[in-house]
Amino acid sequence: MSTAPGLVIVGGGLAGARAAEGAREAGFAGRMVIIAAEDALPYIRPPLSKEFLAGGDRADADVHPAEWYDEHRIEVMRGRRATAIDPASHIVTLDGGDTLGFDRLLLATGAFPRAFRGPGADLDGVHLLRTIGDSAALRDALSPGGRRVVIVGAGWIGLEVASAARGYGNEVVVLGREAVPLSVAIGNTAGEVFGALHREHGVDLRMETAVAGLIGEDGRVTGVELEGGEVVPADVVVIGIGAIPDTALAEAAGLDVDNGILTDAAFRTSAAEVFAVGDVANVFHPVLGRRIRIEHWANAENAGRAAGRSLAGEPIEYDEIPYFYTDQYDLGMEYSGYGVLADGIEPIFRGDREGREFIAFWLAEGRVVAGMNVNVWDVNETVQRLIRSKSVVDPARLVDTSAPLEELVVEASA
Ligand SMILES: Cc1cc2nc3c(=O)[nH]c(=O)nc-3n(C[C@H](O)[C@H](O)[C@H](O)COP(=O)(O)OP(=O)(O)OC[C@H]3O[C@@H](n4cnc5c(N)ncnc54)[C@H](O)[C@@H]3O)c2cc1C
Repeated sequence: MSTAPGLVIVGGGLAGARAAEGAREAGFAGRMVIIAAEDALPYIRPPLSKEFLAGGDRADADVHPAEWYDEHRIEVMRGRRATAIDPASHIVTLDGGDTLGFDRLLLATGAFPRAFRGPGADLDGVHLLRTIGDSAALRDALSPGGRRVVIVGAGWIGLEVASAARGYGNEVVVLGREAVPLSVAIGNTAGEVFGALHREHGVDLRMETAVAGLIGEDGRVTGVELEGGEVVPADVVVIGIGAIPDTALAEAAGLDVDNGILTDAAFRTSAAEVFAVGDVANVFHPVLGRRIRIEHWANAENAGRAAGRSLAGEPIEYDEIPYFYTDQYDLGMEYSGYGVLADGIEPIFRGDREGREFIAFWLAEGRVVAGMNVNVWDVNETVQRLIRSKSVVDPARLVDTSAPLEELVVEASA
């Protein structure tokens, strides 16, 4: 048996777990350790604002059952935090002061939710959502129904929580900074589809608002004060205002960090034998010719696995098209593409926008750079092929539902 220190993965989220899997798939047979700050085996987070929050089973969120880690000889140090890394001497220090050597190290420390910085943030009844514990606490608060729930933030998390909260029969107010929900992610026209959806489900969407503070009585939140003085009454407040990449270890060790840990397309950081992947990594994308940091499940899944292969010594150039999805009420959506290229462009729609059954395409210089299918299934792969082809397409044919999408792909690829 090898006595070499092997691979150490800091972060027991989806990216860390898939990296361990990828390294084994690539034939790495040595010691492998995952240091996981949470006292849980790796789990996926999307159900935390959807199925689990709505009453689903905890086990459905696990990446693998416990036996899998034993079978693959992957040690998961649960409830342990790495407090420092030393790339020069190849040592990780853990909470408690003990150390672990490594041949190669992967930082998969993810992101943490941006907290509300104004007054009242520590009151009881104010929730952030990142971990299974956060989701369980929020579920306890929402499930009795009949509560006044105020959600600060009209992004993906805020809107998914609104959907779950309405499902339990709560009154829901969503406070958003922009004019249209999700406009930062998908622009105004597509964002308005989600705005209409929530209004129809009885959510009071209040856009172009700014929160001055949270107010309370006897340590419990009772309302959200807006700039201008209006107080929105609340029994439960959810803060969903984005996530911050957890770069603390990397910064302290002197790695290059700029909106995440900088890596090349093989997930190598500026320090030899140290890699990074997942929400925490700002990775060079060969198709874009620039770096991109992606906070989505599919990136943790696919890039995580690819990073594991890279750690194991396989030559990797990761060039997947970014992908994410959401489920809200009876709406299911998948989005593939380069948000950075689609920024500032309004999409064209193929199908029934009012009836929320369509594919939206974002075109830049005549080429599809992103596509979003809403309640239309089994098309995302085709959308990705259109994007990958980089060919100029005819917008009139793209929105013509009598022209099969497959044909456009064939033409575009020819
Ligand atoms: C509520 C919620 C819903 C989401 N829904 C969707 C969705 O519908 N679709 C989608 O595409 N994406 C969704 N996402 C985003 C997706 O879950 C993330 O992109 C993904 O979890 C990133 O995985 P990761 O492994 O990089 O990071 P994380 O999942 O954040 O895991 C990192 C882990 O590292 C640990 N860690 C950090 N520092 C240390 C340290 N020093 N030592 C040891 N461990 C450490 C953290 O505690 C954490 O457990 C959602 C996220 C949340 C929070």
